[in-house]
Amino acid sequence: GIPPLDLAALIRTIPDHPKPGIMFRDITTLLADPVGFARSVDALSAPFRDGRIDKVAGIEARGFILGGAVAHQLGAGFVPLRKKGKLPHKTVSADYALEYGTDAIEMHLDACQSGERVLLVDDLIATGGTALAGLSLLRGAGAEVVAAAFVIDLPDLGGAERLRAEGLPVTSLIAFG
Ligand code: IMP
Repeated sequence: GIPPLDLAALIRTIPDHPKPGIMFRDITTLLADPVGFARSVDALSAPFRDGRIDKVAGIEARGFILGGAVAHQLGAGFVPLRKKGKLPHKTVSADYALEYGTDAIEMHLDACQSGERVLLVDDLIATGGTALAGLSLLRGAGAEVVAAAFVIDLPDLGGAERLRAEGLPVTSLIAFG
């Protein structure tokens, strides 16, 4: 069999980043580890190997790294969900709350067709605001969002519960309490 690997041990935690009291979970150390990266992509993809996934939607920026690799494994296309103002063609936009104010993510209007089965991917879910904005863009385009997959869940912040309350199954590889 495949020897076990402690993925959590490959995540670097940076106290007080980007501000005091925040424990920032840094996945660059996981991505830099050849086995850790491969295992993470395998584990993110595994639940969806037997069901058709037409497209993986990845959230800028770390969701691109993981989502692109997952899309390749699943034989799916890739759709970038980007920060405001980055996509060159016609876009749809969804706002989400930050601690102070709002931000927005955008998707090309023609990125997804009605009825396509889409997997949403990002590195980490905290409050779920970013992923919910992505969900609304995809559902607005008529996509069937099959699930959302994250490397890290911070369950105390309630994001995964919020997505499940919207009828979206959530998978994650590591939880930090
Ligand atoms: P949410 O919208 O509150 O769920 O925050 C999730 C988004 O913020 C994701 O796109 C993450 O990449 C980013 N994020 C929030 N906290 C962290 C962290 O500790 N490490 C890495 N990314 C984070």
